[in-house]
Amino acid sequence: LTIAVTRERREGETRCAVTPETVQKFVGLGATVVVEAGTGLGSSIPDSQYVDAGAAVKPDTRAVLDGADLVLKVRGPTAQEIAALKPGALVVALLDAYREKDTVQALASANVTGFAMEFVPRITRAQVMDALSSQANLAGYRAVIEGAYAYGKGFPMMMTAAGTVAAAKVFIMGVGVAGLQAIATARRLGAVVTATDVRPATKEQVESLGAKFVAVEDEEFQNAQTAGGYAKAMSEEYQAKQAALTATHITKQDIVITTALIPGRAAPVLVTADHVASMKPGSVLIDLAVEAGGNVAGAKAGEVVTTANGVSIVGYTNLPGRIAADASALYAKNLVAFAGLLIKDGALSVDLEDEILKAAVVTHGGAVVHEGVRG
Ligand code: NAD
Repeated sequence: LTIAVTRERREGETRCAVTPETVQKFVGLGATVVVEAGTGLGSSIPDSQYVDAGAAVKPDTRAVLDGADLVLKVRGPTAQEIAALKPGALVVALLDAYREKDTVQALASANVTGFAMEFVPRITRAQVMDALSSQANLAGYRAVIEGAYAYGKGFPMMMTAAGTVAAAKVFIMGVGVAGLQAIATARRLGAVVTATDVRPATKEQVESLGAKFVAVEDEEFQNAQTAGGYAKAMSEEYQAKQAALTATHITKQDIVITTALIPGRAAPVLVTADHVASMKPGSVLIDLAVEAGGNVAGAKAGEVVTTANGVSIVGYTNLPGRIAADASALYAKNLVAFAGLLIKDGALSVDLEDEILKAAVVTHGGAVVHEGVRG
């Protein structure tokens, strides 16, 4: 069994799919691990550490992929990488399969079985392989750090001989995994934190972290959570009420972090251009949903936009990649757990009827087999 890991080639991707620790785990499972030179550099892992852990490090992508049974990546492989794979090989990555249709099609055409880590179901057995959570948690943390950096004032209240520095007011919109960590991080830095969501379950979670919950709590709100634990798309009527509440609240905020997503759909716009125009000069918005269309009007992917009224809108993509060493370490562990479902007695043994594999498989036998992606 040969496991191959190539350098990430997508723009700005600093993370990697294996660490020396996980190389050791795979070697322990009986695998031969081949890593492309430079794979860990963005996470401060030199090639020598992979060698020490038992991997072979090769400089050439094709040589790494040649004969590989299982390829592990952070993001989807490039067309050139797919072309170097043998038919029947397995690829496991955050494929972003709803959007990266060309990659999915190329995997299918090459008769490669592709598993999307973002489709691992949120069931108890799969928690250890839940890459969305491991990465969202770090993104929530990093969003606060980026906000603190872009903000020209301090976070905690400081009473000094020269006067008092007021505590920053931070508003978190969307309280999933990222939002909860953002609340906790902003609180640790001393901010006064409020948060909103459409799922009633989040109210107690927000309050247990010492923040104040602010939301339109009508009948629709009471039923906004799907059986899977995600948010439903809200009606126009609800959105109008939510926007009115945001209008009164946002003018008083210094930092606003938005994380609201609805699976398989565009992110809801929660902060309109009028809301932004009503904010104080120097205040900062950080839009974690920018790649899914954005929660903030005027946010641009990969950019920091400064508005006419002096508000910064931070649209960095891939926030986990801005805390790459930790993000790689946790993602690599998620992959070890996932690969555990594919390996038995030192060889590949894939049961596509397994609940987790069934949910995560996107291409198999030369076809796109994931219904959501195909449709
Ligand atoms: P997500 O990334 O899909 O969305 C982030 C947040 O945005 C969610 O809390 C959502 O309710 C909120 N949101 C959506 N539309 C909104 C709107 N119009 N206004 C305000 N907020 C809006 O969420 P996530 O972090 O993936 O978490 C989704 C769910 O999965 C949660 O219930 C979480 O507790 C659950 N979860 C379960 C497990 C597990 O059991 N293994 C692991 C992780 C997360």
